Order: sequence, then C-alpha cells, then structure tokens
Amino acid sequence: MSILVYIEQRDGHVRPVAREALGEATRLAAALGGTVTGVYCGATDDGLTSLGEAGAAKVLVAKHEAFVRYDGAGYAAAVAAAARATNATLVLFGASSIGKDMAPRVAALLGVGLAADCTALTAKDGKLVARRPVMAGKAFETVGFPMSPAMATLRPKVFAPPAPQAGKTAEVAPLAFDWDAAAPRAIVTGTSGATGDRPDLTESEIIVSGGRGLKGPENFGLIEQLADALGATVGASRAVVDAGWRPHGDQVGQTGKTVSPKLYVAVGISGAIQHLAGMSSSRCIVAINKDADAPIFKVADYGLVGDLFEVVPALTEAIRKLH
Ligand SMILES: Cc1cc2nc3c(=O)[nH]c(=O)nc-3n(C[C@H](O)[C@H](O)[C@H](O)COP(=O)(O)OP(=O)(O)OC[C@H]3O[C@@H](n4cnc5c(N)ncnc54)[C@H](O)[C@@H]3O)c2cc1C
Repeated sequence: MSILVYIEQRDGHVRPVAREALGEATRLAAALGGTVTGVYCGATDDGLTSLGEAGAAKVLVAKHEAFVRYDGAGYAAAVAAAARATNATLVLFGASSIGKDMAPRVAALLGVGLAADCTALTAKDGKLVARRPVMAGKAFETVGFPMSPAMATLRPKVFAPPAPQAGKTAEVAPLAFDWDAAAPRAIVTGTSGATGDRPDLTESEIIVSGGRGLKGPENFGLIEQLADALGATVGASRAVVDAGWRPHGDQVGQTGKTVSPKLYVAVGISGAIQHLAGMSSSRCIVAINKDADAPIFKVADYGLVGDLFEVVPALTEAIRKLH
C-alpha cells in the first residue's frame, strides 16, 4: 500500500488529528505492507523532519504564501497532486472541520468515493474496510472501497497516535502542484475562535457539558468549576445554545461538534438522539440527571440520579481534594 496522510496544521503547528491519522497509517502499513507519506500545506515548513518519529517516511510540502490560512481549493489541489505523485492507494484525513471540508474536494478531484468520519479501519480478506456511525450514531455501517485510492476521514480522538520512534526523521521534499492563487472562488478573510486556556472541544481528553437542567446561564459557573477541577473543556446541549446561554462553538451533537474524549460528563442533559450523535463514542460517559428514566443513562457508564445543584458542587469539591 502507498498511504498518504494529510498533515493538518494550524498556525504552522501540526494538529493532533494528523498524528492520529499517522498512527493508523503506520499500523495499516505494518499489517498490510506499505509506505506512509505525509502531505503538508502551509506557508512555512519548519520542523517537518520530526514527523519521522510519528511514522512518516517522507513529507511532501505544498508551500505557498496564500497557505498561511486554510484555502479549500488550493489545499485540495495540492493533496490530489500528492496522491497522484505517490500513486496513493489510501488517503487519510482527520475528520476535523478542515478535513471535513477538504476530503470531499480531493475525492471529487480524483473521481473516487470517500468514507467519512470512520471509527475503525481493518483489513478483511486482504481488502480494506471502514466502520462508520450512521443514523446519528444509532447504527454502524461497514463500507468497502471499490475505487483507488481509498479515501477516509478519521473521527478525532478515536485512533491512537503512533508510539514515538525516537530519532527517526522524515525526508522532506517540495510538492509540485497546479493551482491558480490569483483566481480564488472564495477567500478566508479572517478567523475567530474561542479564547482561553481550555483546549478545543474536539481535541479534549475530558469534557463537562451542561444542559437545560442548569435552569439559566448564571448557573454554568457550576460546570466551569467542575471542568476546572478536572482540567476539562466545557460543552453544551443545543437547547442551551439556542437559548443563548452558551456560544455555538460549545455545542455537542448532530448539528454541533462530534467529540470522543476519554471522559464525558453530561450534566442536566436529557440525552436526545441528536446530542448522543455527537458524544456517544466517548470512552467513558458519566451522566448526572434528576430523572432516572432520562435517555442519557442508556449510554452512560456511570449514572448519578440526583439534583445537579447538590451533586455538582459536592463532586467538584471531592475532585479538588483528590488533587
Ligand atoms: C435537527 C435537530 C438537530 C439537533 N441537534 C442537536 C445537537 O447537535 N445537540 C444537542 O444537544 N441537541 C440537538 N438537538 C436538540 C435535541 O433534540 C434536544 O432538544 C436537546 O438536546 C435537549 O437539550 P437538553 O438535554 O439540554 O434539554 P432537555 O431535553 O430539556 O433536558 C434537560 C434535562 O435536565 C434534567 N434536569 C432538570 N433539572 C435538573 C436538576 N436540578 N438536576 C439534574 N438534572 C436536571 C432533566 O431531567 C432533563 O433530562 C437537535 C434537534 C433537532 C430537531
């Protein structure tokens, strides 16, 4: 196999989703035989040799001054060129905002299909198959890849990054690609995001999410304090986002972010199917709800039936004491 991995960066920093994709590529290359090449798009290319430690034998660099910001058409043209140059049989992306935007563009340029938001890739009778959630996470489907290259986006935090191979370096080489930067169809004029010390929801190991059970935005302090005690990021249900209690960037679910942290604490959230679609692949789910019949308890590993206004401060205090 010739496996190509899109090395996602933001502000020149390689994102965790890229390391997770490299980890899966390395595992598949070892199981099926093959090579792992990275493709990087950016305005600078510092420190890419170190991706050898993450399993990339080579990194192709599409360098362009316009690539200081994400450009869907330009990045996709470069990744498609890299797929052709390496005779890729498999192309992997993280299913991040950028991966979700770019992978379909690359698939269209190469005239192949795409398995989106995969949670497992395995070899069956020598052929690659992907497992992906469908129907808002209610079911999983297994898909094959009749065309080459196979293309997949990988759900963040589901695939393990590779064990570091200390001292190994990747060969870094420029990539030739064709793209007319002077005739863009769309231009990113700026980006804005949540500020603060907490990691992005999709990259967080621990998330504490609050729902309508909190009764009002003023009570989200309880969620913030529990999140601080756990070193977690704060999430929210759509009900509270629609009510204006939290920004849309905090929303977890079908029309919000898909998250797979090690620990997801749902506080005062009923567990509607659209919320579960975004968090049911979390490794450990803790639910706090006063209604013992709330659907969230069906997916929870640990359930706490009680009034959140009593339970959450006590839990926060207990966790602080542990530290
Ligand atoms: C097309 C579509 C897309 C959607 N996308 C999303 C999405 O992306 N994300 C999402 O979250 N939702 C989404 N929804 C909305 C979803 O259907 C639910 O309406 C929403 O998730 C409910 O939010 P909630 O659980 O906070 O509120 P509720 O359903 O009102 O639940 C509040 C919970 O708090 C509990 N509670 C109340 N008081 C206390 C207390 N004192 N102590 C403990 N527990 C208490 C209650 O028992 C209840 O279970 C979508 C809906 C549609 C139609």
